[in-house]
Amino acid sequence: MREPQPDWLSARLSQDHVADYKPFVFVDGEGVRCSLYVSGCLFACKGCFNEAAWSFRYGQPYSAGLEDQILADLGHESVQGLSLLGGEPFLNTSVCLRVTRRLRAEHGRRKDVWAWSGYTFEQLLTASADKVALLHELDVLVDGPFTLAERDLTLPFRGSRNQRVLDVPASLRAGRAVAWRPRSRPGVEQPAG
Ligand code: SF4
Repeated sequence: MREPQPDWLSARLSQDHVADYKPFVFVDGEGVRCSLYVSGCLFACKGCFNEAAWSFRYGQPYSAGLEDQILADLGHESVQGLSLLGGEPFLNTSVCLRVTRRLRAEHGRRKDVWAWSGYTFEQLLTASADKVALLHELDVLVDGPFTLAERDLTLPFRGSRNQRVLDVPASLRAGRAVAWRPRSRPGVEQPAG
């Protein structure tokens, strides 16, 4: 696995490509979700579940037509929100900011946004302006690289024990990582990670 570097910038790396889009899924976060898989990641985690999407040119270009489809799907009453996966969403902020800002413009906070990242919350807090901007659009961040030595397939929403499921607005208010609590089961404790 590679450590993130200062020159890992979406403006330099992203080709605005997406590996996949899946509407109405139940596994990428809480409730029914629309999942966008962006292309390109430099973390190179051993055992990565989606090695094909390491290339920034994998899949197809993100388009206005796809964005319209995503927003139409998100409009369904049963859909709780949007999930951003990869690849690395924070190395594709052009795509991710575009779709999340449109979601906020059309649905405000009635729909939530989850993202999976190889960056930790603490790394993102002091990262480039586009990464900080995307962090502020999120409700939930599953953070940190996948670590094969800490793999645990029984964990909800994450593959290894070092990864955390974080409540982003609460974490930003507190200035430190705050664990997310499921809406449907408010008493259930999440490991702090
Ligand atoms: S950060 Fe995610 S997509 Fe990137 S190499 Fe690691 S597991 Fe794969």
